[in-house]
Amino acid sequence: MKTSFITGVTGQDGAYLARLLLEHGHRVIGGVRRSASSGLWRLEELGIASHERLSLVNFDLLDPGGAVRLLAGHRPHEVYNLAAQSFVGASFTEPMLTLQTAGAGTLQLLENIRAIDPAIRFYQASSSEMFGLARTSPQDEDTPFCPRTPYGTAKVYAHWMAVNYRETYGLFACSGILYNHESPLRGREFVTRKITDAVARIRLGKLDCLHLGNLDARRDWGYAPEYVDAMVRMMSADKPGTYVLATGRTASIRDFATMAFRAVEVEIQFRGSGVDEIAVDARTGRTLIRVDPALYRPAEVERLVGNPAHARAQLGWEPVVPLEAICVEMVEADLRRNSAGVSL
Ligand code: GDP
Repeated sequence: MKTSFITGVTGQDGAYLARLLLEHGHRVIGGVRRSASSGLWRLEELGIASHERLSLVNFDLLDPGGAVRLLAGHRPHEVYNLAAQSFVGASFTEPMLTLQTAGAGTLQLLENIRAIDPAIRFYQASSSEMFGLARTSPQDEDTPFCPRTPYGTAKVYAHWMAVNYRETYGLFACSGILYNHESPLRGREFVTRKITDAVARIRLGKLDCLHLGNLDARRDWGYAPEYVDAMVRMMSADKPGTYVLATGRTASIRDFATMAFRAVEVEIQFRGSGVDEIAVDARTGRTLIRVDPALYRPAEVERLVGNPAHARAQLGWEPVVPLEAICVEMVEADLRRNSAGVSL
């Protein structure tokens, strides 16, 4: 039986990945930070929190001995490194924590794998934020990085370390450069989930109005369960590699909000511009969205769109779930949770 170790198992991708690996018959060791704020709700919603082949162990990327104890003690066949301070917005206020978890945390795992068992396969969660102010569009594996945020900069470091350990020491180290990927398990600090949760609460009469930042931002949004499937394909391939995972299409924050309200049968219309822009219910005229400049980012990436051709050719991977369907699934989950009085 294969043993897989996932750092960040309590996050969106960690939870879906754990479920997929359990379905594949693996034993899964999930690293959980003792002080993890998110708790186990995602594993519980997926019905795997008490799975007999899932073991949750205390693990903190910032603990220098943690990775050694884990790797030497459990001898996993593969490590999926998904843990990090992953919210781009917070990386501006916590740049050092972001660097330590995303950057140094990755190096430590690679170094310990090299020392303890270089046959352990390694997956690095890289990010489209590494492209930042990309000069070309769409971006692919050959596009130069130009990160715009402390998060993106730390991820560039971790990515190059994974590539270096692959090339210098022959480790089976993969790097998946993932564009935004959403699901009902997305954290509420991310804009899609913030919107679907607010739409549900407005529908249930628990919220008056949704406040958002930059409505012009566009993202290449995919479906998280499909993206973790690509991670597993990378780790099962004959050779380690770097892969862009994206849909190749973008939508704006306005588009996503329109879809989310449509999921509860409300048509919205945007009026005005800049900080005075609002969205109203087309039928009643009620204001449903306002802009709050406090939610603007100090720096923004607006043109990111990925080309997944390499993943399609080498891994047979194809993203198929459309954004409208992802959005409806998220709104339905948030209606269910908010109706039950659960806030996750
Ligand atoms: P990111 O791509 O990892 O930063 O994902 P987010 O979901 O946090 O942000 C996506 C985009 O939505 C960014 O360009 C934000 O500036 C924009 N945005 C607009 N309003 C909001 C908001 O209220 N919260 C968040 N998180 N993002 C917002």
